[in-house]
Amino acid sequence: MNGFDAVAFRRQFPALTEDNIYLDSAATALKPQVMIDASSDCYRAAGTVHRSQHSQARKLTAAYEHTRQQVAELLNAQSAAQIVWTRGTTESINLVAHSWLSPQLQAGDEILVCEMEHHANLIPWLMIAAEKGARVVKWPVTAEGLPRNDLLPSLLSGKTRLLAVTQMSNVTGALPVLSEIIATAHAAGVKVLVDGAQGIVHQPADVTALKADFYAFSGHKLYGPTGVGVLYASAECLAEMKPWIGGGKMVDQVSFDGFTAMAPPHGLEAGTPNIAGVCAFGATLDFLSTVDHRAAARWSESLATDAEQQLAQLPGFRSFRQHNAPLLAFSFDGIHPSDMVTLLAEQKIAIRAGQHCAQPLMKALAIQGCLRASFAPYNNRQDVDAFVRAVRMAHDLLS
Ligand code: PLP
Repeated sequence: MNGFDAVAFRRQFPALTEDNIYLDSAATALKPQVMIDASSDCYRAAGTVHRSQHSQARKLTAAYEHTRQQVAELLNAQSAAQIVWTRGTTESINLVAHSWLSPQLQAGDEILVCEMEHHANLIPWLMIAAEKGARVVKWPVTAEGLPRNDLLPSLLSGKTRLLAVTQMSNVTGALPVLSEIIATAHAAGVKVLVDGAQGIVHQPADVTALKADFYAFSGHKLYGPTGVGVLYASAECLAEMKPWIGGGKMVDQVSFDGFTAMAPPHGLEAGTPNIAGVCAFGATLDFLSTVDHRAAARWSESLATDAEQQLAQLPGFRSFRQHNAPLLAFSFDGIHPSDMVTLLAEQKIAIRAGQHCAQPLMKALAIQGCLRASFAPYNNRQDVDAFVRAVRMAHDLLS
């Protein structure tokens, strides 16, 4: 596959209208028509998965498990059994905390977490550490928000049980060099969890080549439905995971004396799942398989570059963007991000202002908050121009 047809891609997203500029895709991506249709088709069918014997239920089970296979292929996992369905990145990370880390975590142990992490990749570790008398150790970033690679070897102590790091910052777009980080952690005997919530859109990780122990992402950032998430776990880690949530369909034998859980992934997936969500995500992945992923990502990156270059001409502009990211986090000296975002909203420009669920990173960047325009492959030059025009007007009014 070569090249990317931005016009054809944009046409697939019914939420895009001429007078509504959506630059908040890092929060959640818009949905293609195929995914909306697949979701409603699923609700038109009767039945659930892995339970009933009738034909519609069997068909749903097949579609549901086929999506698991698609995700395994997307991530180059060795087996579909290494893909656990969750509600999203947040739940995937909490699952690792409770199901894998908690049973082995001792008082005094350490969990190393990068300072740039989204709260979803910090709070679960703080919670489990508090419960077990363990400690979350900060892996600091530079003043620009890049991980201090020079400090990593000395931070991986004999007490470190896990390193948690993002594939891509949801603020700056920084891309930690995962292959080196994972190799360094493994050399110290430490497993690594990668938060792929943003990175999956940039470039799905090859979990086998990277030797990632855990990789988490949310379907909704990759044009899929909300409420569908993925946890990939290496075979070794998967075998060590204990059920976290108990209930129907995760059990082999149960009596009042106890139970034996099914092997993963099913033993980690209690209760009726988000069937329509998973099947609709399968349709989304089919659609994405017709698109040159890297070329599409380069298109959104070029739009962010264009916007950044135009905004840089305005006085007081400061960009926090790293690595040509599709995310443009920025601020203006003397202008409160909330004032700017309100004026932009009035002009139907959807961007986000605040701390972006990354308070420690805000502190490291020495800011209270910032604005973030996030570009997706369905955006175009007209979106950039409308955005820049609106920012200029707001800047004039507020400065
Ligand atoms: N990690 C990162 C880097 C994110 O950007 C987000 C969402 O914005 C999350 C984790 C949490 O994802 P979710 O809310 O879908 O669980």
